[in-house]
Amino acid sequence: MDSRAAPGGMARRTFLAASLSGIASVVLASCTGPQPMPTPPPTTSGTATPSPTPTPTPPVEDVPRPTAMRRSRWGADPFARGSFSFDAAGAAPELRETLAEPVGGRVFITGEATDTDAPGSLHGARNSGLRTAATISDIAEPGERIAVIGAGLAGLTAARELVGHGFEVVVLEARDRIGGRIDTVEAGGFDEPIELGAMFVRGATLQAQFAEASVDLHPVAPPTEARTPDGLAVAIPSTGPDAIATAQSWAATQSEARTRDLSLATAIVESGTAASMSKTPDATGVSPADWLAHTIASGVATVTGATANRVSAFATLPGTRPAVDLPEVGSAPEGELATGIAAALEPYAAQLDIAVTSVVTRIVYDERRVSLRLDSGESLNVDRVVVTVPLGVLKTDTLRFSPSLPLLHQRAIARLGVGLVDTVWLRFDSAFWRADDPGPGSSVEVLTVVGETPTVAAWVDAGGPDGEPVLVGLIAATQARRLEALDDPEFEAAVLADLAPFAPGATATG
Ligand SMILES: Cc1cc2nc3c(=O)[nH]c(=O)nc-3n(C[C@H](O)[C@H](O)[C@H](O)COP(=O)(O)OP(=O)(O)OC[C@H]3O[C@@H](n4cnc5c(N)ncnc54)[C@H](O)[C@@H]3O)c2cc1C
Repeated sequence: MDSRAAPGGMARRTFLAASLSGIASVVLASCTGPQPMPTPPPTTSGTATPSPTPTPTPPVEDVPRPTAMRRSRWGADPFARGSFSFDAAGAAPELRETLAEPVGGRVFITGEATDTDAPGSLHGARNSGLRTAATISDIAEPGERIAVIGAGLAGLTAARELVGHGFEVVVLEARDRIGGRIDTVEAGGFDEPIELGAMFVRGATLQAQFAEASVDLHPVAPPTEARTPDGLAVAIPSTGPDAIATAQSWAATQSEARTRDLSLATAIVESGTAASMSKTPDATGVSPADWLAHTIASGVATVTGATANRVSAFATLPGTRPAVDLPEVGSAPEGELATGIAAALEPYAAQLDIAVTSVVTRIVYDERRVSLRLDSGESLNVDRVVVTVPLGVLKTDTLRFSPSLPLLHQRAIARLGVGLVDTVWLRFDSAFWRADDPGPGSSVEVLTVVGETPTVAAWVDAGGPDGEPVLVGLIAATQARRLEALDDPEFEAAVLADLAPFAPGATATG
């Protein structure tokens, strides 16, 4: 076993900060693929408006070539198998609690997928680690030996708490680094570290923890405008979020059993919401149905990593549910864009015994102890084990339990959803998409396109206060799966095409 403590290794810098839910608060929702999303019928409402004068779509050749590119492939990552969990149709939120139920008092499944308050997030990962550590502290004897599998935020948090309670703790991490789905990278061609995984942080506790570690945090401005494919900038109305809120309210009135099985797409159709969305474009060339599709593509998909066909109508979609207070367009964001997050992990690495490049393949447990097998052939006996491997990994058979997990745990693993969001970082010679240079204290801008299904759900101007010409694209759900299969030149061509509406020469104002 390689017992090097994982090198934090990365310079502590930061440029931006926001939250996926900040984006979703104005835009929202998914339907980025060929799946049968609710198709609004031919115009059934709305006043016919004069057709806008067609403006030619800016040619993709007008989009400057990037000087550097770095992309993630979380779906293909054997130690993630996806980006984060989401509430799938048919999966009641209580399944997360079931998954977190201790098995025989020896095996404790932990991680973002087990948190009911903030699943799929850093906040949820941290909460789960704290909760498991408290549970173990209540039942275990001081001095017991505890293994934590996974050095992501959940595992690091649990391990540090357990050490604080006097337990002997070892962390086993498959990768050669700590952080898991926090992946801060010093990438060639970029002046600052970039984040290939989590980058938006919500919640005062984590924001304070990151700030203390000198992680750079920058508030994200909820987008107020989107571009049409021909480059026209149009104000984002509340049409899309309102439509989803209506569909979710309708779903909530259905019987309990039925509600649990409804997808968001089904709710949009069966509630009559889809039928009420006119397809008639207004003077800017955008119809209410376009705005709903925009909300789904740039909001729901980025929050869940899934299409509306798979997302539960009951899912918490920040900014999309009436119960959550739909923020007004232009209201303050809840999140911040963080870069250099690895710096916040260094204190954990300093305090813990972390064995990196240690892939656990088998967990054998009985009522008295736990034996762990590693792919190196080594084994380790401990009193209890905290398992923080991602839900996507639990869905595979790469980590086996003996005896098998209880059926209720297996059911939770099978039913809870794993979404896919990938990131692409691009650096250019100049920030051609900006009207003005961002000044000190300016908010991070989010760029989206309405009127067509984009490959990149949303672009985030990650240039920071120094105004570096850096964009990060969020690619979600079906599009992410499609693009992961492309080689770099094909991938670059696909994502650059989406920047045509922001290219020099594109119409900038409506
Ligand atoms: C592209 C992307 C964007 C995201 N954006 C945000 C965001 O903006 N804001 C936000 O709050 N959250 C975001 N998230 C989600 C957030 O990153 C996760 O919820 C959180 O990091 C999960 O932490 P965790 O400790 O539960 O799991 P992980 O960080 O995945 O940790 C689990 C660890 O287990 C290890 N492991 C796996 N298998 C084995 C094995 N067999 N043996 C040993 N170790 C193993 C893994 O290598 C990993 O280090 C994003 C995620 C992705 C992928």
